[in-house]
Amino acid sequence: MTFLEQQRPTWDEYFIMIAKLAATRSTCLAFPVGAVIVKDRQVLATGYNGSPSGSAHCTAQGFCYPGLSSCDASSSLPSRAVHAEANAIAQAAKHGISTHGASIYVTLEPCISCLKLIISAGIQEVFYETGFNKGEKGLVRDAFLKDGLVNLTQIHLSSETAKRASIFLLNPTSVAREIS
Ligand SMILES: [Zn+2]
Ligand SMILES: [Zn+2]
Repeated sequence: MTFLEQQRPTWDEYFIMIAKLAATRSTCLAFPVGAVIVKDRQVLATGYNGSPSGSAHCTAQGFCYPGLSSCDASSSLPSRAVHAEANAIAQAAKHGISTHGASIYVTLEPCISCLKLIISAGIQEVFYETGFNKGEKGLVRDAFLKDGLVNLTQIHLSSETAKRASIFLLNPTSVAREIS
C-alpha cells in the first residue's frame, strides 16, 4: 500500500467523521450527537439532536425547559430533542429513501427508543463511538442483540486520522499535497 493510500481514512472512520461533523449542528444543551445512515458505502441521510423542525432551539433559548439547563436534567419531562438517529430516519422518510438493510453511524450508542426505531426501520448494523445504555437499559439492548434484531459495534477514530482531518478543516483543503 502506498503512503497516500495508508493516509486515507477507513470507511468506518470516514462515516464516523461525517457523524461527528453532523453533531456540530446539534441544538440541544444536553450533549451533541450526530448520525449518518449509510448503505452500500453511500450516505442516505444525516441527523443531529435538536428540537423538532420549526420549534425553538434549546441553544437559542439558553435552556431546554425554563429553569432546566439540560433536556436530561429532569426525571419527568421528556427531552425536547429529536435524537440524531431519529432525525436521520425522519429525513430519509421525508424524502422517500428506504433504510432497509442500511447501517447507521452515530457518535453515541442509541438510547432504547432510537434502537427500537432503528430496528423497525430495517437498519441492521449500528456503529457508535461512546457507550450509553447501562443497567436495565443495557439488559433491554442485550435482549435485542440476543434476538439477532440488530448488531452493535463500538468504533474509534484513530488520532492519526483525526489529526489529518483537522488539517483539512483548519486550512484550505484543495491545495497541492505536501508529501513528507
Ligand atoms: Zn434541549
Ligand atoms: Zn435516542
